[in-house]
Amino acid sequence: MAKNEKVLVVDFGGQYNQLIARRVRECNVYCEIVSYRIGVAAIQAQNPVGIILTGGPNSVYEEGAPSLDSSIFDLGIPVLGICYGSQLMMHLLGGHVCKAPEREYGKTLVHTDAASPIFADVSRDTVCWMSHNDYIETPAPGFSVTAHTDNCPVAAVEQPEKRLYAVQFHPEVLHTREGKQMLHNFVYRVCGCKGDWKMDSFVETSVKALREKIGGGKVLCALSGGVDSSVAAAMLAKAVGKQLTCVFVDHGLLRKNEMEEVCEVFGPHGQFELNFICVNARERFYQKLAGVQEPEQKRKIIGEEFIRVFEEEANKIGAVDFLAQGTIYPDVVESGLGGESTVIKSHHNVGGLPDYVNFKEIVEPLRDLFKDETRQAGRELGLPEYLVSRQPFPGPGLAIRIVGEVTPEKVRMVQEADAIWREEIAKAGLDKTVNQYYAALTNMRSVGVMGDERTYDYAVALRAVTTTDFMTAEAAPIPWEVIQTTTSRIVNEVSHVNRVLYDCTGKPPATIEFE
Ligand code: GLN
Repeated sequence: MAKNEKVLVVDFGGQYNQLIARRVRECNVYCEIVSYRIGVAAIQAQNPVGIILTGGPNSVYEEGAPSLDSSIFDLGIPVLGICYGSQLMMHLLGGHVCKAPEREYGKTLVHTDAASPIFADVSRDTVCWMSHNDYIETPAPGFSVTAHTDNCPVAAVEQPEKRLYAVQFHPEVLHTREGKQMLHNFVYRVCGCKGDWKMDSFVETSVKALREKIGGGKVLCALSGGVDSSVAAAMLAKAVGKQLTCVFVDHGLLRKNEMEEVCEVFGPHGQFELNFICVNARERFYQKLAGVQEPEQKRKIIGEEFIRVFEEEANKIGAVDFLAQGTIYPDVVESGLGGESTVIKSHHNVGGLPDYVNFKEIVEPLRDLFKDETRQAGRELGLPEYLVSRQPFPGPGLAIRIVGEVTPEKVRMVQEADAIWREEIAKAGLDKTVNQYYAALTNMRSVGVMGDERTYDYAVALRAVTTTDFMTAEAAPIPWEVIQTTTSRIVNEVSHVNRVLYDCTGKPPATIEFE
């Protein structure tokens, strides 16, 4: 929306391309990912202040390997090639790239040349993350080598007069200790950026732009209470106030006090000016779910019922001009619209809603933001910390944390156990390092003894994982005392639970959620 200085990341299918964009943005420079397929003219048309060519799985010398017209290097726009991107730059400009005698994978000591602007304020010997089979045997004419490793004679090259730079390693991953400094050097020293990408000004300009776009129109927003939809709603409320209606559906599968928390922020006593509708649909969902065991069927029922409830509310409101969605940048890239991703997964923040609402246009105010930026925007908008720093929570809610049939009684058990677990994790100060943690209710009942009396009750499973991307995860090594305190609190405070188990499984082979 705002006209910021922009760096383009040209995606050749590398694993870390989103990370590159995030790192650049952490330097306060706006950055977007585009596929190499869009070509040089389209890249130039976006008027970037710098271009970064990413890594990729191919070999540049193979027939049909992803490439670009070499005129990209004549635009006068600074280019940084990373791994595949560095090899491609050399290949296209007359250097020689071939299979390396010694491939490098992992942390590698790189010897750098102080004269390169990329290595300004970087240690002469610095640990970098390498992941390549090919290497640059001979740099292209006019380029000088600015770094090497024991196995790789060309770990970095440059031709400063043409503003072309290339590194064989990956500055974007945290294993490259001074990688952030190198990217910072590229955007500030080479591209000459000023750093105009800041969340406070983003919020301000977005609010203005939303006002212009929406005019006197009506906006409808499905509020889930998650980070994305809450931030989108807050921004729209700031922009158009009472022209916005937010519908929040309590399907009876939320965490303890969640409905109250959302109502406190967005309801009539909250800080925002808007129309807020909270629908208590708990009974409807419980009835539909009665007797259903199978996870996929549970998900389907909840998704469909959600649409029914929302549709009924939308009908009461009548036609609107805009339907707001909390789509964020990773959703856009994952749908195949941004980068070179092969997963073409259409993205709806609220599954299938647009088909059931009478509206003219979709508005997605967070479309350009990464998750951490979305949280930051939420803080700028004055949302409370418990909303902006919330953990991921699945759409079907607690239904997939209750193994087997869902009943109101089981929902109560899991809500209470989960609240205790979250409280104890926070008390132990683990909430910042453990990425996701919750309690689930197993479908197992077993024998116990309480006050000399036999019990035959349910078992709660505690889950806590560390992960960077939620694609893979490890069970978190929670200190035994914390598990013990939580266990005794749960069996004491939550009736009909007589056993607590800790889930030690990672993902894979398990998933983070139970169903
Ligand atoms: N496929 C190329 C190689 O093996 C580039 C690898 C990469 O970009 N990570 O060298």
